[in-house]
Amino acid sequence: MKHNVLFITAVMAAIAMTAISCGNSKSNTNEMQPLPVATSICEGVSMLEIDSATTLITLRDNAEPSSQPNSLFYGKNNKDSAKVEQLSPNGQIPSSIHAFLVKKDNKLTLFDAGNGIVKGGMLLSRLDSVGYGPENIDYIILTHMHGDHIGGLLNGDSAVFTRAEVFVPQVECQYWLSQSNANGQLATKAVAAYGNRLHQFSYTDTTALPLGIRAMAAIGHTPGHTVYSVSKHRLMIAGDLIHGYDLQRQDMNISPTYDINPEQAAEARKFYFQFARNKHSVIAGMHLPGNGVLIEE
Ligand SMILES: [Zn+2]
Repeated sequence: MKHNVLFITAVMAAIAMTAISCGNSKSNTNEMQPLPVATSICEGVSMLEIDSATTLITLRDNAEPSSQPNSLFYGKNNKDSAKVEQLSPNGQIPSSIHAFLVKKDNKLTLFDAGNGIVKGGMLLSRLDSVGYGPENIDYIILTHMHGDHIGGLLNGDSAVFTRAEVFVPQVECQYWLSQSNANGQLATKAVAAYGNRLHQFSYTDTTALPLGIRAMAAIGHTPGHTVYSVSKHRLMIAGDLIHGYDLQRQDMNISPTYDINPEQAAEARKFYFQFARNKHSVIAGMHLPGNGVLIEE
């Protein structure tokens, strides 16, 4: 791999961006305007050096840049519809599905796994484009167990990642195992496929995760939705705190229908965005637009 190092001065002087060559690169002229902090290295993949031992690689699971309709954010009984229409006059809000790969201390950690190939998920081809196969992944850490985050763990009933140790908040895992709906069935299948390589952890166990990664409960989107602090808060893996950034950043009380408990989700969103601002963290959000990474000041 070829490395070119550029330094960001505007937002975070300590963070450097590293460009690597892309194995099967295609033109990315249709790429949405990238958010300011990561370097796009090929279609759906960008890279950012977090510190000297830690590199973030963003992997867009959806084939093309996408958006969500305003109506997704209208709330119960359409209570927020007028506000949403006023704040989002285009009728659509840019979005994405991302997974994030963190290279740290010679280990590869994947945060979430996208939709999976059967639903058109591009995660494995994005990984391949930067030289990795699923067998290279050491750890997978889940923000929650919705299908667009765990579908990619499976190929039919089999585990896609043949070596990885998988970590999931116990409260999240137990919730989905108790559900008989399609998402509950998918979670049950994933737990079975990974067997004793799947580890359910409690928030009180601060040593449960590898590489010093810390779990922080961000309940609301789901009953065990969790964000992760990497490299002493330099990087926050934000999961599904936010689905329509351009809209919700204007009013963090607005929640999409995907949030199981919208009020709790809004509190978690406000709390962790402020937390990230205070710590000057890079925020990597699974549904942020562009390359899925930003810094809020
Ligand atoms: Zn999601």
